[in-house]
Amino acid sequence: MKNPCIVCNWKMNPASQKEAAALAREITRAAKSKKGEVIIAPPAIYLSTVKNEHTHVALQDVSEYAKGAHTGSISASMAKNMGASYVIVGHSERRREQHETNEQIAQKIERAYEAKLTPIICVGELKKETPERAWGKIKKQLDEIIPSLKKGKGVIAYEPVWAIGGDKKTDSAYAQAMMYRIKLYIRMQAQLITPILYGGSVNCKNIEDFLEYKDSIDGFLVGSASAQKKEITTLIKKIYGSY
Ligand code: PEP
Repeated sequence: MKNPCIVCNWKMNPASQKEAAALAREITRAAKSKKGEVIIAPPAIYLSTVKNEHTHVALQDVSEYAKGAHTGSISASMAKNMGASYVIVGHSERRREQHETNEQIAQKIERAYEAKLTPIICVGELKKETPERAWGKIKKQLDEIIPSLKKGKGVIAYEPVWAIGGDKKTDSAYAQAMMYRIKLYIRMQAQLITPILYGGSVNCKNIEDFLEYKDSIDGFLVGSASAQKKEITTLIKKIYGSY
């Protein structure tokens, strides 16, 4: 992964294959200086469409199983064969809606490594609370995935759940302090230097606040803003311009 890394999590957007191709084309154009790395994570159904337009693609989720009878699931090796090089795991929307556990997330990390995919692993506390209490929640998530994380090279995305949604109030100083703690903890527990991304309502209005801390942020996971052509292309240029 090259810094700064910008992961575009399109969530359940756009509405058609044609729009997916057009949006990917615009993102590719904005990222053409290759100063960093832009990864597009479209809905799985558009993976090959996006791959035709853009080099770095990710799946938004992957099965915890390598194969078998799991209707509706996609295995890591299928994603690899379709041209993906990354996969997002443990996104808070999946933890909440699909009740994904840290144990399942650990399995997904291992399936990703086996298929030679890089997992982008999301961690973050639900509510904004004191840094000590928030750290307790994040540490539990990390402790349960570190044995799997250690088996390869993953990327962590710190995503405070209270800041996710595209238009939520963010706190860049708080985020930077938490990311520093996460990085240090992983280095001590797993002897790994893991790249760390920030995610949670990153947009053109607040990006400057985060860029103040660019020395300790390896990139961004952008959700809502990444599915809006003007917003994401401007954001990429701003981020590339500052690193
Ligand atoms: C996300 O989907 O991981 C995310 C950070 O979303 P948003 O940018 O919309 O807050």
